[in-house]
Amino acid sequence: MQSLQHIFPLLSQPRKVVITTHQKPDGDAMGSSLGLYHFLIQFGHAVTVISPTNWANFLAWMPGTKNVLDYERQTDDANKAIANADWLFCLDFNTLSRTKRMEENLGNATGERILIDHHQEPQVDKFAYGESDTSKSSTCEMVYDFIIDSGNSDKINAAIGECLYAGVMTDTGSFRFPATTASVHRMVATLKDKGLEHGMVHENLFDNFLENKFRFLGNVLLNRMEVFYEYNTALIAIPQTDLIKFNIKTGDTEGLVNYPLGIKGIKLAAIIIDRGEERKSSFRSKGGFDVNTFARNYFNGGGHFNAAGGQNKEPLEEVVAKFVAAMKESREQLSNYQF
Ligand code: 5GP
Ligand code: MN
Repeated sequence: MQSLQHIFPLLSQPRKVVITTHQKPDGDAMGSSLGLYHFLIQFGHAVTVISPTNWANFLAWMPGTKNVLDYERQTDDANKAIANADWLFCLDFNTLSRTKRMEENLGNATGERILIDHHQEPQVDKFAYGESDTSKSSTCEMVYDFIIDSGNSDKINAAIGECLYAGVMTDTGSFRFPATTASVHRMVATLKDKGLEHGMVHENLFDNFLENKFRFLGNVLLNRMEVFYEYNTALIAIPQTDLIKFNIKTGDTEGLVNYPLGIKGIKLAAIIIDRGEERKSSFRSKGGFDVNTFARNYFNGGGHFNAAGGQNKEPLEEVVAKFVAAMKESREQLSNYQF
């Protein structure tokens, strides 16, 4: 994988470009994809953004989402774009398997794949060019760096600002996590100078839910959360019947895993959701417990040191039992925690 600098001189030659990201895109995935989209179209590139799956309603306000192809619903159009693309930007994921059903066609594409990502252990052999930097707060910060380093700061507009701000703000837990460097704040300052209205982004992301999401949250915290004080750990396990009862849609469960981390003493928080086709898990930790390794070892997943996820095919009860066993195996690290 060669450095991104090699493509800077080529930016001015119009190409067919695909931008894609991980399945069930979050704010950083969608924000970085659309931020890059609003940048590249200014050079006359023909740009198609493809999401491997559908996305949360709370992302629908982002400028450009109406043109994003959902691979699962617009498979033929998406495959055509992938086959014809000169460049395929792969944002906010480290392994092609994160693109779910798109993996095969993305892997077989004849165009050059370009990685911009901040997850651990990227499949570097799959990419002609790219940058992988786990110290970065977000892929949105990396897209911002890409724009600046290529000498095109004049192309940053309000649309790019809104998309990139949404991603950096959500991936840093509202500028809270350690990766929120001075550079991140400088980036936000520049985006503000370019016309960003940050209050509007917060409102669109956080004040736009339906009542059922909050009824569901009440049920989750009251009935589905178990706290293992001995292990400084809390687990939320959600059966599929809850998702149906509360009419839960993509994105409604986002952020739930953070609630137990607010309990005094809790170092590891986990959520396992029975999505029918798979049991999807998310892990969050504080301080020295490495959930990336935990997710890799027990849940076919990965991610970052303090935020990771995975998925299992076994029934919910078995995945819960697996979690409890894994927690017990990690007793040493979890119990002797220095806050
Ligand atoms: P979330 O819990 O918000 O879905 O994901 C947290 C982090 O873990 C994200 O950076 C995400 O990319 C990563 N992640 C989530 N699920 C998986 C998975 O199934 N496999 C891998 N490799 N990473 C995951
Ligand atoms: Mn990210």
